[in-house]
Amino acid sequence: MGKTQDRDLGCSGTDRFIDRGERIYDLGEEILVVCPKCAGMAMVILVSDVPAKLNGRLFAPRRLVCTKCLHRDSWSGRQVSVGGPSDWYFGLPLWLTAPCCGEVFWAYDLEHLEIIESYVAAKLRERTNKGRNSFLSKLPKWLKSAKNRDEILRTIGKLKGKLDAGT
Ligand SMILES: [Zn+2]
Repeated sequence: MGKTQDRDLGCSGTDRFIDRGERIYDLGEEILVVCPKCAGMAMVILVSDVPAKLNGRLFAPRRLVCTKCLHRDSWSGRQVSVGGPSDWYFGLPLWLTAPCCGEVFWAYDLEHLEIIESYVAAKLRERTNKGRNSFLSKLPKWLKSAKNRDEILRTIGKLKGKLDAGT
């Protein structure tokens, strides 16, 4: 011990994490959910040709595609429910969810999972002006607490395993 550096911390390989200001809305272009037909992993994705404006993208038509049974569904509507542990369009439970620290940990997809992972793993967190309204700045306290770090990272590791198994 002591001389071996853990180089597997976060995506940048350092202990420092810089909040680049991703908003929760930036994470909705792919949401992994539990398929209502077969309970396998399904994806809620943008159909195609989406408007560049955020508001247009948020309400752009979505498609549900199961990676296991190939069940499909489509969504086009005017109401979305953003920010909770279910997908914003069909209201399906998320694929990446697990009990953790007496709470429920959840993420929309691998990108979301990895941002939280490098944030939690970092011992030094920096916030730029952009980060003021980021989803990271709004994470619940238990996810930010240093004493929960090990358990959260273990949970994220398990969910990555579940992701490999589901595809
Ligand atoms: Zn299915």
